[in-house]
Amino acid sequence: MSVAARKPTMRPRRDGVGPRSITILGSTGSIGCNTLDLVARNMDGYAVEALTAHSNVKLLIEQALQFRPRMAVIADARLYDDLKAGLAGTNIAVGAGRAALLEAADMPADWVMAAIVGAAGLEPTLNAVRRGATIGLANKECLVCAGDIMLAEVAHSGATLLPVDSEHSAIFQVFDFDNAQAVDRIVLTASGGPFLGFSRAQMADVTPAQAVAHPNWDMGAKISVDSATMMNKGLELIEAYHLFPVPEERIDILVHPQSVIHSMVAYTDGSVLAQMGVPDMRTPIAYALAWPRREGSPAARLDLAKIGALTFEAPDQKRFPALRLARESLQAGRGAPTVLNAANEVAVQGFLEGRISFLDITQVVERALEALPAPAVDTLDAVIDVDARARREAERWIAARQA
Ligand code: NAD
Ligand code: MG
Repeated sequence: MSVAARKPTMRPRRDGVGPRSITILGSTGSIGCNTLDLVARNMDGYAVEALTAHSNVKLLIEQALQFRPRMAVIADARLYDDLKAGLAGTNIAVGAGRAALLEAADMPADWVMAAIVGAAGLEPTLNAVRRGATIGLANKECLVCAGDIMLAEVAHSGATLLPVDSEHSAIFQVFDFDNAQAVDRIVLTASGGPFLGFSRAQMADVTPAQAVAHPNWDMGAKISVDSATMMNKGLELIEAYHLFPVPEERIDILVHPQSVIHSMVAYTDGSVLAQMGVPDMRTPIAYALAWPRREGSPAARLDLAKIGALTFEAPDQKRFPALRLARESLQAGRGAPTVLNAANEVAVQGFLEGRISFLDITQVVERALEALPAPAVDTLDAVIDVDARARREAERWIAARQA
């Protein structure tokens, strides 16, 4: 059986209609806030079931008071009393800790924004998948670390995955699912991040502040560092492989510094379809919120005459080894992407805390992949175990580096 043949087809359903009851997992983050910005513009269109955050209890309280969810959850259990006090006198249920986070995902929202960063979002997202919800999937790490398991659960429950990552939203919008055999290639565009023109020597001394200052997008710290190493594009390659019925060798990466073309699908007849727009996540979020219809978003209109020129260049795997590591791990299969993702999360955190240098990030990932070559990840427990082993391996390397 070909790789393409065993992939579930993400065929748009045409029966869904709004308004929607929604849950936002990770409501205080960049994607979470952008989602609530859209909801605030159409308060009658949505009923909020649950909002969750990790530790920004102040913002979570503000959001809960504005959007009146049935439940608000803070994952850091030490902040339970703060949340409870902040929402006293309301009828909003309050929860804290991992179990409450999973409970929030179980609330009967028919649309769930999966916007927790990292593998921490896997189990809450899976809970929402298992009850057949429509998922706006921003959390790419959960597909990278457990893509086969996620997709099996989607197929089993009849859940709908709608990509929110701008590249995958673009592909979803121009992918002809009824003629998937006529798709020649997927072209994932990449801004190249803040260090696109840097030599390796110049990258050696870059600071966390420089790395999180993305030229086009305003995002959370982790994905901003991933964009700077270009691991973000590597993770997106793996994400695209799971979402669309196209084999790895026909998914290309193309550097396009203006971030206007969000990605493209090339067909066997020579046509190339692209989705364009200004770089504003409210466009792909609005698409996933309203799908299968469309609704307005406050994103600026694209003015191509003003932009003047769009440029493209091939990615440089020598200066950005994350691209090679991600592709190799996808080729190796099994748990290699799980290891890649977990080690990268630890390494990015280590870099943000000033414990390792920017160039060390991909070193940590490469060492972890060597130490744990493609372990089996057939079950969720196995994924969690491999993820933990990769984190320990990465931590060990960082500690040795500091010693
Ligand atoms: P962020 O850091 O701004 O927000 C992360 C959210 O997750 C916050 O609400 C935080 O409280 C919560 N969170 C973090 N750790 C948690 C934990 N252990 N348990 C429970 N909750 C936790 O991140 P972001 O930029 O909004 O990105 C979120 C996800 O969306 C990431 O997977 C990212 O790759 C993806 N994404 C983001 C963008 C973007 O423009 N920001 C674009 C495409 C994809
Ligand atoms: Mg993206």
